[in-house]
Amino acid sequence: MKTQASTERRNSGPYVVIECPEKIPCDPCVDACPNSAISMPGSIIELPQVDYEKCTGCLVCIPKCPGLAIFVVDETSEDEAIVYIPYEFLPRPKKGDFAKGLDREGQERCDVKIVKVIDARKFDRCAIVGFSAPKELAHEIRGIRLCE
Ligand code: SF4
Ligand code: SF4
Repeated sequence: MKTQASTERRNSGPYVVIECPEKIPCDPCVDACPNSAISMPGSIIELPQVDYEKCTGCLVCIPKCPGLAIFVVDETSEDEAIVYIPYEFLPRPKKGDFAKGLDREGQERCDVKIVKVIDARKFDRCAIVGFSAPKELAHEIRGIRLCE
């Protein structure tokens, strides 16, 4: 599943990408968003929908998803994208570290550089890690493997 944000929205600032393919009874993402950008019309088993006009790319919903299915992508730079992912492994990476960018199948696709790590107690052991990656892989890289 790729982002449904319009090209105009993608160029205007960071935005959420929800890759939640299965209809299961789950909706913490809806309550997590302070801007009411995520909704689930109908019932709790429907797939979440995003109002991209309301999403500010604030990152708050990323660690709230038990399925680790929420990401934020920033494509506003000319050369590279910043991708924010949920990260539950220890040790955490540090800003400035390099890592391997992994696709959805866990295959190494590129080198990435860590640009942000948010490891707040309120996020309940799920950190938010942001890394820079080649822009053309912004919707392929969904994990990292730390370099030794
Ligand atoms: S990134 Fe922020 S504004 Fe966008 S959907 Fe998630 S919580 Fe809402
Ligand atoms: S919290 Fe995550 S797994 Fe649950 S509905 Fe929202 S995106 Fe899907």
